[in-house]
Amino acid sequence: MRVLTTIDEMQAACREVRRAGRRLGLVPTMGALHAGHLSLVRAARATCDVAAVSIFVNPLQFGPKEDFSRYPRDLEKDLALLNQERVDLGFAPSEEEMYDSGRSSYVTVEGLSERLCGRSRPGHFRGVTTVVAKLFHIVEPDVAFFGQKDAAQAAIIRKMVRDLNFDIQIVVAPIVREQDGLAMSSRNVYLTPEQRKQAVVLYRALMRVQTLADRGERRAAELIRAGEEVIREQPSAKLEYFEVVNSETLEPVADITSGALVAVAAQFGTTRLIDNVLLTGSGQAQGPEMKG
Ligand code: AMP
Repeated sequence: MRVLTTIDEMQAACREVRRAGRRLGLVPTMGALHAGHLSLVRAARATCDVAAVSIFVNPLQFGPKEDFSRYPRDLEKDLALLNQERVDLGFAPSEEEMYDSGRSSYVTVEGLSERLCGRSRPGHFRGVTTVVAKLFHIVEPDVAFFGQKDAAQAAIIRKMVRDLNFDIQIVVAPIVREQDGLAMSSRNVYLTPEQRKQAVVLYRALMRVQTLADRGERRAAELIRAGEEVIREQPSAKLEYFEVVNSETLEPVADITSGALVAVAAQFGTTRLIDNVLLTGSGQAQGPEMKG
């Protein structure tokens, strides 16, 4: 794997790939890689000629009181994992490299960016779309890979790509989970062993909703009521939202007949976790993808 740290070098390397007529896939990440990230890397390797992975903890998507400074970072370990996965290009720029010209230009997807996590994390999605737009310009990939784990992010990026005519295919890969159902996340390392056990309640709540939908329940209010009831069984979980929304517009839906995204966010101690399940039009959810 070639590891590049400057924008100029990365642009040149990607230009070479395109000139050779090879299909280029990009997986944007913030590092602290786990099996969820690696599933995206494998999808890129399987469907593209050249796989590029960016590792950049993007300050723009963290609020002033959020965990930017303590976000887990282990570049050496990440690069070793990417090497094992036979990634071709690693892009690990510094903060100065990415934002050296100051921060006066932003990419904002209005409306969607204020929904779900956007409500409690103002500016978060603007930070995400700005850095992803920059990465898209630097790499100019044919395909970019994102995880369903961050369902709102995926919807917002899809909208950005449509609105701004990026000629890039967006692939969204299923959520990779631990054996007990907890969605893999770089932030799971913050959890104490006790909180780690408690956090499974998110998955249990989503599975309760899925079961009800499978049995024919179509009313979003009823699904939310049932999901929140499961969350309340774990009093240490501080629920931020439990919503049933349209997976493209992120607007609440009253009925799930045409499919819906069920999304949850809750805090365990100081750690904020999110999870979701996609219900298809028939009410069936996509099966979970477990580790190992
Ligand atoms: P992050 O490093 O957290 O910004 O994540 C980088 C990419 O990996 C994003 O597209 C995430 O949605 C995706 N991702 C993170 N966790 C998972 C997971 N458990 N399963 C699948 N994709 C994931």
